[in-house]
Amino acid sequence: MKQFHNFINGEFIATSKTFENRAPVDNHVIGLVHEAGKAEVDAAVKAARAAVTGEWGKLSVVKRVELLYAVADEINNRFDEFLEAELADTGKPHSLASHIDIPRGAANFKVFADIIKNAPTESFQMTTPDGGTAISYGVRSPLGVVAVVCPWNLPLLLMTWKVGPALACGNAVIVKPSEETPATATLLGEVMNKVGIPKGVYNVVHGFGPNSAGEFLTSHPGVDGITFTGETRTGEAIMAAAAKGVRPVSFELGGKNAGIVFADADFDKAVAGITRSAFENCGQVCLGTERVYVQRPIFEKFVAALKTKAESLKIGASHEAGVGMGPLISAEHKEKVLSYYEKARAEGATVVTGGGSPTMTGDLAHGHWVQPTIWTGLPETASVIREEIFGPCCHIAPFDTEEEAIALANDTPYGLATTIWTSDLGTANRMAAAVHVGLCWINSWFLRDLRTPFGGSKSSGIGREGGVHSLEFYTDLRNVMIKL
Ligand code: NAD
Repeated sequence: MKQFHNFINGEFIATSKTFENRAPVDNHVIGLVHEAGKAEVDAAVKAARAAVTGEWGKLSVVKRVELLYAVADEINNRFDEFLEAELADTGKPHSLASHIDIPRGAANFKVFADIIKNAPTESFQMTTPDGGTAISYGVRSPLGVVAVVCPWNLPLLLMTWKVGPALACGNAVIVKPSEETPATATLLGEVMNKVGIPKGVYNVVHGFGPNSAGEFLTSHPGVDGITFTGETRTGEAIMAAAAKGVRPVSFELGGKNAGIVFADADFDKAVAGITRSAFENCGQVCLGTERVYVQRPIFEKFVAALKTKAESLKIGASHEAGVGMGPLISAEHKEKVLSYYEKARAEGATVVTGGGSPTMTGDLAHGHWVQPTIWTGLPETASVIREEIFGPCCHIAPFDTEEEAIALANDTPYGLATTIWTSDLGTANRMAAAVHVGLCWINSWFLRDLRTPFGGSKSSGIGREGGVHSLEFYTDLRNVMIKL
């Protein structure tokens, strides 16, 4: 039986308490995960502290950058191993993980290595009251020991999105991967040892949230800052833990994102774009679209076209040819998504397509499959329009004017992302300014330039990561003034 150990101070550590890691495609047991208790979390924090105050903390930026390049290269050398580990844990299509999860997971180390190499700080010269001169300049020092708490939807990519900049800035990290997807974070420990990252710089503790590794880590007084991606509700709990000691947080949280399609949009591109934003990764993308608003003249045609696209998505296991949609992550998540499918019906939705589970055969019958689902006809107060479902589903409603589209898009406590489809640049610019989100895509979705700020507004997050913006969280900016 495969074992997923904790990785502390450069060593793989077993514990007496284990839990099963199961495959979403057929529910078979992939292996046993060794749950970290308070003692293991404490050991990881101590190892990380020793690293930042020791060899790692004293390393030149040039040397650090070399090591991060080596990490990326070694992930790519072991590409297939990382890919298979991610596929087993998530069940996502091979085409998706091989194009996004693993290559981007590796690239995050190089991108942030390049950014730290070129990051400037500001400098000012001033006249002093006695007629002399003073110069002040900024110095960035590492934040210190950083807790990285991760979700399961893009495990390696979202974890390295935080570990990459944290290490580039000279911090040491303790990663708490999702209990659903422990594999690639563990495998990364082998990579760190192979390329010579000093002991204690990268640590992994496995387990759950409350009363387990997640809570033990985020409430540990030796942690200097917490970066987290996950549900808004979990963010609230972590923020309460971070309040003790007034520790900084960087949060990428949930969303209830609107997609807006104007009648003048390139119709086929808009349909293809919304198909991706609603159903990619089985709807388990924080940036995904669960509310679609379509301008009235093309409403009926759009609903029919999206229905055709949804029904043509091949549902299946990662390696099946032409598969476009995998399973949900767990039995528990499937239950949650199906409960929303029921609520939509109970609240009076017209089910355009889907609304249940597909019939799967053989071992796949034990997997966590649901149908891509489209609803129309619900009032804006309906649960499936207000609450994040995180499944392959969307409600489509008509709108008439730009003002109405803006009001509909903004009528949510969340503010993560939007995708807007129009051929009028004026409309695009006005909409981008008016929709209150951290990320606005025009005639595209999930198109990323890693140098740009990434994060959510309102209840969708705190802070921005990406490019030089990551330095705001992962470094402590200090000022030095010299009286000349
Ligand atoms: P989750 O909040 O349930 O869990 C995320 C992580 O937090 C897991 O590792 C979990 O074990 C840990 N955790 C849970 N409770 C904790 C606690 N009390 N203290 C410390 N740690 C705790 O989220 P999930 O189900 O893994 O992921 C799906 C959610 O993530 C969705 O809401 C989605 O929108 C969001 N998400 C956001 C982004 C973004 O960039 N904004 C990206 C991906 C996912």
